[in-house]
Amino acid sequence: MTTWNDWKRERNFIAGAWVQADSGQTIDVTNPATGAVIGTIPAGGEAETMRAIDAAAAAFPGFAAMGLMERVGLLWKLHDALMDNQKPLAELLTIEMGKPLAEAMGEIAIGAQYVRWFAEEARRAKGEIVPAGVAGRRILTTRHPVGVVGMITPWNFPSSMLARKLAPALAVGCTVVAKPATATPYSGLAWAALAEQVGFPAGTVNIVTGSARKIAGAMMARDEVRKITFTGSTEVGKELMRGAADTVKKVSMELGGNAPFIVFDDADIDAAIEGAMVSKYRNSGQTCVCANRIYVQAGVYDTFVEKLIAKTNALKVGNGMEAGVVQGPLIDTDAVAKVEELLEDAKAKGGKVASGGNRHALGGSFFEPTVVTHATQDMAFATEEIFGPLAPVFKFQTEEEAIKMANATVFGLASYAYTSDLSRAFRLNEGLQYGMIGINSGLITTVEAPFGGIKESGMGKEGGSQGLDDYLDTKYVCIDGI
Ligand code: NAP
Repeated sequence: MTTWNDWKRERNFIAGAWVQADSGQTIDVTNPATGAVIGTIPAGGEAETMRAIDAAAAAFPGFAAMGLMERVGLLWKLHDALMDNQKPLAELLTIEMGKPLAEAMGEIAIGAQYVRWFAEEARRAKGEIVPAGVAGRRILTTRHPVGVVGMITPWNFPSSMLARKLAPALAVGCTVVAKPATATPYSGLAWAALAEQVGFPAGTVNIVTGSARKIAGAMMARDEVRKITFTGSTEVGKELMRGAADTVKKVSMELGGNAPFIVFDDADIDAAIEGAMVSKYRNSGQTCVCANRIYVQAGVYDTFVEKLIAKTNALKVGNGMEAGVVQGPLIDTDAVAKVEELLEDAKAKGGKVASGGNRHALGGSFFEPTVVTHATQDMAFATEEIFGPLAPVFKFQTEEEAIKMANATVFGLASYAYTSDLSRAFRLNEGLQYGMIGINSGLITTVEAPFGGIKESGMGKEGGSQGLDDYLDTKYVCIDGI
């Protein structure tokens, strides 16, 4: 039986070895629920990343040439190792990130599902024989792993955000250099420990912690890194896209969101409330697909608000390791300050605090789940990502107006709508400028579907059959004269 502490690796994993930073310097990692330091990680940078890239580049030809079923077998073992250690891995995640243990258990489980899904999909990464336009010619397309992949991931889903990248990359034979978020590095480093345990060859998975700029800079500088996959803020994503241009790397960008959650008069209101609660407050509002703006049609506005307030008031806030807690702390006090800033802006423009609205009595980075009514489009959260437990409720009159307000942002990740009118559901699918649309569902992430945004929410898909595409190059062979 392992404990969370057994999975806490305080070194980087480069070329199959657990190593410190060259400088010997470390960074403290804290538990956001208690403020306690739970360990340290290496303050790595350029030199360490260069060595990790060397190792990944050296391992690539052999790993790509490995028999498909041998590679798939390693992924099956990885899946099993995750699930065998679900509880300690989830505890590690909660202790470094703050989310309730039940959510962390779910995150480890969905990570394992991504591993299994992509092990299955890799067996179907087929090419084509295409009818040629000219007599005597044969046209074939074949698909090949892109090479070394650089991965940079955020703190809000420190395990599963890496799962969605590692699994497809490894399944098709790419090798990896990954950089987890500094706030939550241990769930990322645990992937290297798991990969080592199940027998991935040295150099296939490398994980470096430390300076984001230096690590990303080294990834950008090297030709051998053929793809950058990033999940995080739109601001950093844009910077990485510019950086990737010099060596024309493929890029996948899973960036910020500002999800509209639209409730029509004809909706099942209790179902809409349930969806809004899970979409808004999961991970204390710190998901890229969280309901950021709740639009409610005038006929059901008062009923919806009343029920939302009652449910919000009932949320138990506390340390995610405690039974019954459904709202953990925010990642840090800067995140709390951002929520306060958005709240003050809303209050100054006529927003009414109907529930919560303050730092929580628990102190630290705990904030009360908050409902703001009378929200309007001129308030900052109408265009900015909240990333906290603040639920603004807007009123609308018509479907056209709701779609127009929903689309009035640069983001285009997730959107939600509750209605019993199927023809409206199809109109919403056509009208909402979002990569994902949940109709009568507030929880839409699943391994079978292509997760990803449009507009400034990014490009590329994670999950679904499309999730393999970015890790593969397509070659075309024209055979003539035989
Ligand atoms: P972030 O500040 O962009 O950080 C994400 C990662 O990028 C971290 O590993 C961070 O390293 C690194 N980073 C920071 N500055 C960098 C730079 N100049 N160059 C290269 N890497 C850099 O975002 P975050 O605050 O961790 O995460 C929240 C954001 O992620 C939100 O906008 C959210 O919507 C988005 N997100 C999107 C999805 C999606 O699928 N679309 C999923 C989850 C989250 P350090 O930790 O060392 O700073």
